[in-house]
This record gives sequence, C-alpha cells and structure tokens, in this order.
Amino acid sequence: MSLYKNQNIQLYNSLTKQKEPFTPIHEGAVGMYVCGPTVYSNVHMGNCRTFLSFDLVFRYLKHLGYKVRYVRNITDAGHLENDGESGDDPILKKARIEQLEPMEVVQKYTVDFHETMAKFNALPPSIEPTATGHIIEQIAIVEKLIKEGYGYEKNGSVYFDVVKFNEDHAYGKLSGRQLEDMITNTRELAAQSEKKNPQDFALWKKAEPQHIMRWPSPWSEGFPGWHLECTAMSTKYLGETFDIHGGGMDLKFPHHECEIAQAEASNHKSPVNYWLHANMLTLNGKKMSKSTGNNILPGELFSGENDILKKAFTPTVAKFFMYQAHYRSILDFSNDALEASEKGFNRLMDALHSLAEISTSENSSLDIATWKQACYDAMNDDFNSPILIAHLFEGAKYINALKEGKETISATDLQELSTTMHAFIFDVLGLEDTQAGGDEAAEKLSGAIELLIELRNKARANKDFATSDTIRDELQEVGIQLKDGKDGTTFSLS
Ligand code: AMP
Ligand code: ZN
Repeated sequence: MSLYKNQNIQLYNSLTKQKEPFTPIHEGAVGMYVCGPTVYSNVHMGNCRTFLSFDLVFRYLKHLGYKVRYVRNITDAGHLENDGESGDDPILKKARIEQLEPMEVVQKYTVDFHETMAKFNALPPSIEPTATGHIIEQIAIVEKLIKEGYGYEKNGSVYFDVVKFNEDHAYGKLSGRQLEDMITNTRELAAQSEKKNPQDFALWKKAEPQHIMRWPSPWSEGFPGWHLECTAMSTKYLGETFDIHGGGMDLKFPHHECEIAQAEASNHKSPVNYWLHANMLTLNGKKMSKSTGNNILPGELFSGENDILKKAFTPTVAKFFMYQAHYRSILDFSNDALEASEKGFNRLMDALHSLAEISTSENSSLDIATWKQACYDAMNDDFNSPILIAHLFEGAKYINALKEGKETISATDLQELSTTMHAFIFDVLGLEDTQAGGDEAAEKLSGAIELLIELRNKARANKDFATSDTIRDELQEVGIQLKDGKDGTTFSLS
C-alpha cells in the first residue's frame, strides 16, 4: 500500500492564506508546476533555495508513493526587465555584451543551471519546457483571450484588460491587492501609453527593430508576454486545473496574479488548487538578487572564494543549511550559520556510520514507531524540514547513546531506525554522504591532497608558478578546491 494513504498532508495555500488538507485531483497522482529560471546569468544561491525547496516537495511526494509529474520551465524569451513588462530583454542585452547569439546565452546558462542543480543532488523535473518552444500555444491563448473580450490589440501588441477582468473576477486575490489601490505613481513608460489602463499587462509585444528574438503572429512579428508562457505550459502538460503551483515569494505579484487572470479568463476555471511560495534567501538582511549584485554564487560557495566566506562548503552542507529553515521563512546567509550546519551535518553522518557497531537486546528504550511517525508528521505539516531535522538529531543522539551502551534497542527496531534515518536523509532531503567510501578511503585521499599542497607550496617558493597553478587548476577540474588562507592552504571537495 502506498505510504500516502496513511499520512495527512497539510499544505499552506498562499491563495487562501491557510493550511489545507492536501487532496490531489487524481488519487495517487500529483501535477506540480514551478516557475524556472530566466536564463541570462548564473543562478545565485537565492534562486537555488527556491528550486531546492521544491525539490524537497517533489522528493517527499514521491517518497510517499505519489506519481508526480513535475513541470519546471526555462524562461528563454519574453521576461523583460521591470517585472517583465517594459525595458530591455535581459537575454538580448547579455547577448550584445558577450557578442553571442541570444540562443547561445540561453544554452550557456541553462547548462550552468542544470550542472548546479546536479551538484545539489536535485532531481530533474519530469518535463522542462521552454517558452520559445511553446510560441504556438501562447498565440492560441492570446486569440482566445481576445475572443473572450479580455485581450485587446494596439499597434501590433496585445494587452490584457485588467479592469474588464476585475468586473467579473477578483484581480489581486493571490497577492492581496485591490485593483483600486494599484494606481501607480510611476511615470508612464512609452509602451504603457498603448494600454487602456496602466495595470494592463502584455500578452504579445510587437518587436522593435533591434529585438531579434521574434516570431510571426496575427498581430505583428514579436514575442509573448512573460506571464503567458507559464499559463501555456502548465495547461498543456498538467491540464486546465492542476494540483500545485510553486515559485519564489517575489513571483506572487505580478507574475502569478497574471497567470491566474489569464487562465480564468480563457478557461473559466481556477487553474491551481494549491499555490506554494518559497521565501527569500537574504544576504546582509537584503534579498539576494541578480540585478543588485547582492548575491553569492554556488561556485563561490563551493570554492570559498568570496570575502564573506572563511572556507569552502560542500553543496550538501549548503542544502542542509537551507533545510534547517522552513521554506516559508526568510533565511539569512552567513559563514557562521553554514559552519554550524556543517557541524550538525557531520554529527548526523557520524551517527549513521556508527549504526553498524550497535548491538541489540530484548527491548528498545526509545519508541521507534512513535519517533518515525513524528518524522512523517513534520513533513506532512507543510514540509516542515527543520522539525524533521530535529527528529533526525534525536535519532542520532539515540544512536550515540546506544553505541556507548547507555540505551537499548531490539533488532527489528534497529533495522527500522536505520531505514528511517536513511530514507529521510538521502531520499527525502536528498543529502549526500560526502564521507562515503569509509574513513579509510577519505584519509588516503586527504593524505594525497596534502602532498599536492606541499608540492605546490614548494613550487611557489621557487617561483615556479606554472607548476603551482597547474596543481590548483587540475585539482579544481576533478572537484577539489584549494583555498589559501592566513593559516595555510585548506581544501574542499564538491
Ligand atoms: P528568476 O530567474 O529571476 O526568474 O528567478 C528564479 C526563481 O528564483 C524564482 O522562483 C524567484 O522567485 C527565485 N528567487 C529569486 N531571488 C531569490 C532569493 N533571494 N531567495 C529565494 N528565491 C529567489
Ligand atoms: Zn512562471
């Protein structure tokens, strides 16, 4: 029997602003859509936090035996600056700066995104559609919206009439905004003057001569509005109403609000049963962001090459750090917090490695069944990973006490304890045992690296920088980072 039948999952639905029991549309199956990255630069740790939050959701639902279709798109067209509405297309801008084809920019950063997600041991989604691969579907929705009276054309561009929509629907219900309050004081941008109301958003934009990413349409050679791609791709692969839609908190408005409006106006039904929003990763108390430069890149974290960091951290420690906070809480990134997580993670791993040394007896001094259900209850409660981790630490503490002969456990309970610890740490949290291969292998490897560090120091002392750089670069190639500090050189594995 599937595990989910015995678990009562409660999800916090951003639309109703409360926890609700989770009932998928089709029993045993879950459709989930998560907004993917806009691929014009390397993803930063903030972006990674959102994607890892949903990797946890994906993994837990799969662990419970649900058949999950997880769709996460790649935004490779249409997402303009200023909330996707006006200004430059960042992909085209990057292409001009780097003297690349826009599609080369898209490819480069899509590959970087995939490599980064793989380093974090995040599972690939079931379908990863692109905006440029779904132009026909997007045009079809624009046509439908015009027919329904919610879309209007002006000078080759098509806009969504928010005021008309608000007459018979509630625009702003996800973000808790009232249309009347949305009167902006910002200056009218050129394109906005084409709109009936400043709050209207673009469904299709006529391309300016320099805008080379363009497609033919009934209205002009142009490109789709940013919000449209997610409506097109979620509907295509998950249906007109599906179970879960996720994304970062900052996408609630306007992106997700506009998705709801487009879907309700064209299909006459609410597109999503549960809206889930992941909170922000901050740096120095401010949101990590691509545009302000207030961010840390995964590569900097893995190499330790950023002034904020005193050392390098593995992807699994970074992930553990993030899961020690609930996905709906703001989390501030810092070297000290990461170091604390690293210690905690190592304690968990040490406990797991001790399992083999434990001898069993008649009775158990910890009620394993209750402890195990507490682990599930934590995850059932809107994926409360910090509470789950607290229970895993309790398990680790018990293992350590067993090792010292201070507690007892029966053979069946030991098996259950071990299986549950492994299932939650590796399958659900998706962490990796970086000490795997045993302490002996790790010792040999670190001995060999220390020797290379010594040779590199000698080369540097002899001003043979070609050799010293080769040692560092070649080690980097195979995933071993050297970091030079005040107290000598340290290394980390990724
Ligand atoms: P983008 O590529 O800008 O569309 O962002 C990709 C995803 O990362 C979106 O779901 C954003 O909400 C999310 N995101 C952006 N900045 C942060 C941050 N500082 N912390 C967490 N998630 C973020
Ligand atoms: Zn989206």
